[in-house]
Amino acid sequence: MPDPQALLRDVFGFDGFRPGQEEIVSAVTSGHNVLAIMPTGGGKSLCFQLPAMLREGVTVVISPLIALMRDQVRGLQEAGVCAGALTSGNTPEETEAVWQALERRDLKLLYLAPERLAGSGAVSMLRRIGVSLIAVDEAHCVSQWGHDFRPDYLRIGELRRALNVPLAAFTATADQETRVEIVQKLFDGAAPETFLHGFDRPNIHLAFAAKNNPRAQILSYAAARRGQSGIVYCGTRAKTEALAKALGDEGHNACAYHGGMEAEDRRIVETRFAREDGLIVVATVAFGMGVDKPDIRWVAHADLPKSIEAYYQEIGRAGRDGAPAETMTLFGPDDIRLRRSQIDEGLAPPERRAADHGRLNALLGLAEALTCRRQVLLGYFGETAAPCGHCDLCETPPETFDGTTAVRMALSAILRTEEWFGAGHLIDILTGSTTEKIRARGHDQLPTFGVGKDYDKRQWGAIFRQMMGHDLVRPDPDRHGALRMTEAARPILRGEASITLGKEAISRAATRTPAVK
Ligand code: ADP
Ligand code: ZN
Repeated sequence: MPDPQALLRDVFGFDGFRPGQEEIVSAVTSGHNVLAIMPTGGGKSLCFQLPAMLREGVTVVISPLIALMRDQVRGLQEAGVCAGALTSGNTPEETEAVWQALERRDLKLLYLAPERLAGSGAVSMLRRIGVSLIAVDEAHCVSQWGHDFRPDYLRIGELRRALNVPLAAFTATADQETRVEIVQKLFDGAAPETFLHGFDRPNIHLAFAAKNNPRAQILSYAAARRGQSGIVYCGTRAKTEALAKALGDEGHNACAYHGGMEAEDRRIVETRFAREDGLIVVATVAFGMGVDKPDIRWVAHADLPKSIEAYYQEIGRAGRDGAPAETMTLFGPDDIRLRRSQIDEGLAPPERRAADHGRLNALLGLAEALTCRRQVLLGYFGETAAPCGHCDLCETPPETFDGTTAVRMALSAILRTEEWFGAGHLIDILTGSTTEKIRARGHDQLPTFGVGKDYDKRQWGAIFRQMMGHDLVRPDPDRHGALRMTEAARPILRGEASITLGKEAISRAATRTPAVK
């Protein structure tokens, strides 16, 4: 059987499961009856698409919205998965193609509009084609008291009995009544394995910090947690070894772990980590898949992870025992540059690259958040929550300021130099520093030269980092990382939108009070 992680990566282009997905995929793949309740946007479709690929035979997907079905089928086909739909929206050619794929026994997923179940031949047709799983999207449509009631959904129970195969039902509607009704109507009252996971891990404290001296920052973080088991995630193999050594020199019990090590050496680290108390593993993302140590007390990122999903998965390794655990993620402009160029230089097709940039943006939005971090994180996964009181931003609400003027100054410096320079040189222009390079290029003659003297270089550094975090500017790998303006910046430049920035990084670095309103 193919490896779910490999399919996740190769077919869907995701670097990890979202909260709850792995358990659901595993239950559905093993043929259990499943009821999964996940918030909208949480990633339900993967929970039946992946098992469909892992199982023998055809998975029938019943879904109420033709447009949605067509989208999913198209997405799967583009990823090289044999999928088709039988709906009233089909052209005769599409229907013919589905039948041919069924004849060849190639089809893995057959999307079916519920109306199709009403026809007399439906059940015998499905019996013939070797259905091994029924997946029901928007399962609450079976509820007679709900807004979305679809009478044809009532036939699904019948179909399950007739085919005698496992059924997996998915919905975002979590209320008790609806759940009971789904169990009665789809599973004849026999309780399915039920997944109702919120994404929140309330015992985990969340914090981010601007990276200035990562080695010193990690050392002091570990020093404050001496004797506790922790993981430090690093972006490169070399860094894991250097940091593990630095921690060792400070008297910590620490070791490195990365994919370039001998399998035997990796296994030794895994075993030691599981058995010893207070070991710090300094690792790349290669460490974690098999780690199920319940009492990891802290997870620190010496470098920014590559997506919000990866972040969630990595911090989620802390505090599985439910006892308090802490996390801290360092991030800086170099991280953003690195992650962007990894995406741009990768081999993924353009749409996937755009999606990867989007997932990175979501993480940067979290890093630069100005309100409860947990709220922002859960919001991304489709959950609404009250401010948590247990994150760095709830504990110390950041001071903010209207950064519109500063951002417009920076954008103007970028445009006046035709998007050919990086933050360092742009900051020299804004602060009116007459360096060699400034003089050589005649940039001291620009109208923007020296207009930003109200902030010093460190303050401008924080402003540029936040601009990158808001995806207003992006480094262009074809221009040695020169910053270029994105579409998102235009309304600010035109004076049609304003932007609030965090002052914390700025005032902390301040040598004098900047004149900000
Ligand atoms: P739902 O049906 O629960 O509303 P979808 O299945 O449409 O959600 O997924 C919502 C979004 O999340 C989609 O854009 C999908 O590509 C993305 N997604 C799902 N699983 C993952 C994952 N493991 N990593 C990254 N993105 C994911
Ligand atoms: Zn909070």
